[in-house]
Amino acid sequence: MPDFAVFADTQAEPTSVYRWLDWLETQLPFPVIRVTKGSLTEEVLTVRLKKKSIYGDNLTYLRSSIPVYGKAPDGELRAAIGRSCTAEFKVRPILKEIRQRCGIKHGQKDVSVTQWIGISYDEMQRMKLPSNPWTQHRWPLIEKRMTRRHCIEWLKRNNYPEPPRSACYYCPFHDDDEWRRLKRDDPEHFQKAVEFDETYRRLQNENPGGMRMEVYLHRSLKPLSEIDFDSDPDCGQTSFDFQSECEGMCGL
Ligand code: SF4
Repeated sequence: MPDFAVFADTQAEPTSVYRWLDWLETQLPFPVIRVTKGSLTEEVLTVRLKKKSIYGDNLTYLRSSIPVYGKAPDGELRAAIGRSCTAEFKVRPILKEIRQRCGIKHGQKDVSVTQWIGISYDEMQRMKLPSNPWTQHRWPLIEKRMTRRHCIEWLKRNNYPEPPRSACYYCPFHDDDEWRRLKRDDPEHFQKAVEFDETYRRLQNENPGGMRMEVYLHRSLKPLSEIDFDSDPDCGQTSFDFQSECEGMCGL
């Protein structure tokens, strides 16, 4: 039995995830600690000033914090540009909390924490060794060879509701089904994702000191508002890019 669970809140999860977590806390025999580094949305949309760069001085720019798709000047797709969201808003806040709670000393080398990570058997390529010497990782669902489908079947068999996938509502790793589900079940957050998509692109265009391309949340390089999720079965993003989210912290 774990001593506690840690949920790192990017403050950008859809309502269904927060509701699920509220309910889960009433079911688990151990506490769930919620930690946050702040608002990822604010981090992504903040315009910054770069005093010196190879492109010129005093240029304004946005950090490439999330894994967006970019359209290069030649119209070509430049996929999932470098990002820091998972490391900064999930991995580090979780490790900081574990350090404090478990009394990890500076420079400690002995393993004294076992961290369970909920990657399922069909996502085993996301398994990764810990980044510090005092943690060892375990993947209980992989040990039990449980795929995502097995997990959902287990929940149904035990009369639990089906959980939503945990990810920021505007995460570009969503596949078409996940965008469709968001649009159908949480139209408020789908609309917020549409607005985020437009604002992010506009700010990137107005402040070209960072990424020199037009950014989109969807691989088709179309604004979310123009994609026909309702009647087109293949809008251009049919497989989950969470497989490339190798930290194993998002889309679980
Ligand atoms: S869900 Fe997506 S946008 Fe949010 S932290 Fe994870 S990779 Fe980044």
